[in-house]
Amino acid sequence: MRIDLHTHSTASDGTDSPAGVIGAAAQAGLDVVALTDHDTTSGWVDAAAAARRLGIAFVPGTEVSCRSGGVSAHVLSYLQDPADPALVALTERTRAARVTRAQRIVELLGSDYTLSWDDVLEQAEDAATVGRPHIADALVARGHVADRSAAFDELLRPGSPYYVPHYAPDVVEAVRAIRDAGGVPVFAHPGADGRGRIVADDVIATMAGAGLAGLEVDHRDHDAAARARLRGLAQELDLFTTGSSDYHGRGKVNVIGENLTSPEVLALIEAEGRMSVVRP
Ligand code: AMP
Ligand code: ZN
Ligand code: FE
Ligand code: FE
Repeated sequence: MRIDLHTHSTASDGTDSPAGVIGAAAQAGLDVVALTDHDTTSGWVDAAAAARRLGIAFVPGTEVSCRSGGVSAHVLSYLQDPADPALVALTERTRAARVTRAQRIVELLGSDYTLSWDDVLEQAEDAATVGRPHIADALVARGHVADRSAAFDELLRPGSPYYVPHYAPDVVEAVRAIRDAGGVPVFAHPGADGRGRIVADDVIATMAGAGLAGLEVDHRDHDAAARARLRGLAQELDLFTTGSSDYHGRGKVNVIGENLTSPEVLALIEAEGRMSVVRP
């Protein structure tokens, strides 16, 4: 069984539609794929329909933006009730903050580059969760940079004069909200130090106490040493481990199915989640 539990569509900052992500997963020979757009579940309905059509299993999910002190972090939620009022309020607050923050970044960039908010809106679907990748695409469309990666490296990374953070809930608060919504929380790329500072082990222990279920260990942003360290931490804290691509379509080099999760771990997720995996 080939299982990939972390992908993005045009419901956030991926470049394939939700149905397109499912199509790409089927094309890659996957048996199970999760859709985990940033702070939204709006792609679930189309993804589920496509999965039924294409004969592949679909795990509904979300990647919840969080913070721990000044450190930005992502917690994946699987199989939660998409209508849970508290979790919806929490992610909607973040989605609103992402818009204000993106407008501020565009304002700052606008003093040195030809770039308007309309340029960014052209790059995002109407209901999409707005992120820096859409600003990157607007910079590419204007000819200021070659691609998303160059935009991040040169202009959008933390530490750049144009970088602005956004509100996000504390990681422990998010783990509780995900559990309360019947979701199964998994810490996404917890050792991805190339993106900035990472969450300390004692905070991960507190997250585990609050209901964290797993660590995403096999991810492109972790080298062999990071994976070994995180596997040890997972064992210590009695967490399961997952592997996933974090596919963003043409937006990133990540290839769908490049890291995989075991069927045993998928069974644990399904046993703990309120919703069911959509099976063909
Ligand atoms: P934001 O959500 O606005 O903080 O932007 C973070 C998103 O940008 C994440 O989903 C990353 O996958 C994506 N991202 C970060 N670095 C890069 C890069 N070098 N190239 C393409 N996408 C990136
Ligand atoms: Zn993303
Ligand atoms: Fe992430
Ligand atoms: Fe992601």
